[in-house]
Amino acid sequence: MPPCNCLYLGCHLSSSKGWEAMGKTALAIGANTFQFFTRNPRGSQAKPLDPQDALNLRQLLTENQFGPIIAHAPYTLNPASADANTRDFALQTMADDLARMEYLPGNLYNFHPGSHVGQGVPAGIQLITQTLNHLLTPAQTTTVLLETMAGKGSEIGRSFDELKQILDGVQLNGKLGICLDTCHVHDAGYSLAVLDGTLNEFDKQIGLRHLKAVHLNDSLNPRGAHKDRHACIGKGEIGTNTLARLINHPALQKIPFCLETPNDLPGYAREIALLRGLYRAPARP
Ligand code: FE
Ligand code: FE
Ligand code: ZN
Repeated sequence: MPPCNCLYLGCHLSSSKGWEAMGKTALAIGANTFQFFTRNPRGSQAKPLDPQDALNLRQLLTENQFGPIIAHAPYTLNPASADANTRDFALQTMADDLARMEYLPGNLYNFHPGSHVGQGVPAGIQLITQTLNHLLTPAQTTTVLLETMAGKGSEIGRSFDELKQILDGVQLNGKLGICLDTCHVHDAGYSLAVLDGTLNEFDKQIGLRHLKAVHLNDSLNPRGAHKDRHACIGKGEIGTNTLARLINHPALQKIPFCLETPNDLPGYAREIALLRGLYRAPARP
């Protein structure tokens, strides 16, 4: 019997040694998906793309039956900024990232929707949808993901309703999905312990078919704290049992689960092994 590849589980990896190197690292720690920053997460510089490196990674992903992988936009971008230059910089950077992602067709690109910085949520949502309407093209094979946010400061995306409003404002919203970050939704006030209730609410407001990836993190802070401090699995307020129920939930099969816990590689390998041990391969509903 081949090993069960039903659970796509991995972690955030450094891209400093190139793209194929990330695939090899993922294999070495028991991962069959991973996330990486497209460029310095605080700055704008991206290394020139190496098409051969991209091709090598593509082959590795196919040969090893990886799930979709996730590129993460720099978290300093703000498509909801009141400043037109800041918004344009976000748009140009994301457009460049999406062009690169076409070397790895059919994967995911996650970004933080942005902060309204005092303009108010409706104005912020309007600016984010405007950016996405300029960014998305019918030909792209990458699905762009809005990440659920903790609600720090004036972050947009702290509720399922805000994310739904963005989806509704985007013409090509078939190219859009949601990445649910467990630390962020917990910090935003949703209960993961009452998992079915929260997933039902997601389904009612957005639709679970739009949920394309999960960031699997524990949280250092109590529910509703709006802090966004990630903890290792079982070392926070969410707990191992709840996170294990999440990866086993019948409605969440075949999507990638990515750890963004404060870990070195051996720590990630241990958490991946722990979670694989808690996976029961449920039947699809
Ligand atoms: Fe993120
Ligand atoms: Fe995240
Ligand atoms: Zn976070």
